[in-house]
Amino acid sequence: MSRPEELADALAKVRERIAAACRAAGRGEDEVGLVVVTKFFPASDVRLLAGLGVTDVGENRHQEARAKAEECADLGLRWHYIGGLQTNKAAAVARYADVVESVDRPELVTRLARGATETERQVDVLLQVSLDPPAAEHRFGAAPEALGALAESVVAAGEALRLRGLMAVAPLGEDPATAFARLAEVRAAFLSDHPDATLLSAGMSGDLEQAISAGATHVRVGSAVLGPRPQVQ
Ligand SMILES: *Cc1c(COP(=O)(O)O)cnc(C)c1O
Repeated sequence: MSRPEELADALAKVRERIAAACRAAGRGEDEVGLVVVTKFFPASDVRLLAGLGVTDVGENRHQEARAKAEECADLGLRWHYIGGLQTNKAAAVARYADVVESVDRPELVTRLARGATETERQVDVLLQVSLDPPAAEHRFGAAPEALGALAESVVAAGEALRLRGLMAVAPLGEDPATAFARLAEVRAAFLSDHPDATLLSAGMSGDLEQAISAGATHVRVGSAVLGPRPQVQ
């Protein structure tokens, strides 16, 4: 199979999985958006995906994301930054990302707002909430208790940033359905304070069905569309 055929085939399968999960959850099929995670894959793949109707792509490393966003600027895609974010890179990310999904501490907020303001852009923000046990190592995401203050900092940053919702990754070694059930509770509490922040980005190639059943409005799918990622390092 040629690469265009391969991508078209895999994308159709993922779209069908999303539609089936929506039906199973009693949700409308247009309620869940697909963000294709193109990290480690070339801009040529991004271009093919855009031709297949993909509108949203996700990246998790700043240099790679910036280069691809520049190379694909003519495609009108929405770029989601989904990776761990160093404080000193945040302003630069806000110069090309349309959505930053991995906001987990207040230091990032001021930097993102600065980058967005300098380029006269408005950047959508999702707060990444940790579903790990509190003592877990390499924990990404804010503790659920920290979301309130973090949300306030985004609102206080003014028009450059728009608080749109939450993002989470299911921890390894736990049934994703259990983790996403916790996420649904965290989200319900969050929505009562921020009723307009309705987005929920959760679910990847391996667990998108469980995430959709727990209320995800966006799934972030990489390998099920693009194939296995080349090994890093
Ligand atoms: C890489 C990545 C994904 C996509 O993972 P797949 O298992 O390849 O679908 C989703 N979310 C985040 C935060 C990622 O880093």
